[in-house]
Amino acid sequence: MTKNFSIQELVPPEVFSERGNAASQLMDIRIVNVAQWLRDKTGKPITINNWSNGGQFKESGLRNFATSTGAKWSQHKYGRAIDLKVEGMQAEEVRQLIRNNWTTLKAIGLTTIEKDTPTWVHIDCRYTGMETLLEVPYQ
Ligand SMILES: [Zn+2]
Repeated sequence: MTKNFSIQELVPPEVFSERGNAASQLMDIRIVNVAQWLRDKTGKPITINNWSNGGQFKESGLRNFATSTGAKWSQHKYGRAIDLKVEGMQAEEVRQLIRNNWTTLKAIGLTTIEKDTPTWVHIDCRYTGMETLLEVPYQ
């Protein structure tokens, strides 16, 4: 979908299997562009889903409505959220980078992060109507 992120990294295997490249239509490009900005800014590899390479992550982007993972009305189910892992950086370091670059990231479409996820960073582009970054607890 972008220079560094394939559609397989953004949707679960059953969605890719059913929809192929058209699965990209289920993702909000704004949040993928935020992930790409973080990739470019840090210069470090970022893992979202890695199921297509035999890894454990398959629900770090879009989630199937039938999943038992996460909240019932999670932004992941609307293709507006990504859980990312930046190689060599702690989650809090990445959140601080986001706060420090808020004006730029807001223009790309970021609205919300979860403030206390331990080993990953949740970003989403839900509507908030706010001028500031919304930081919600991890549930
Ligand atoms: Zn998440």
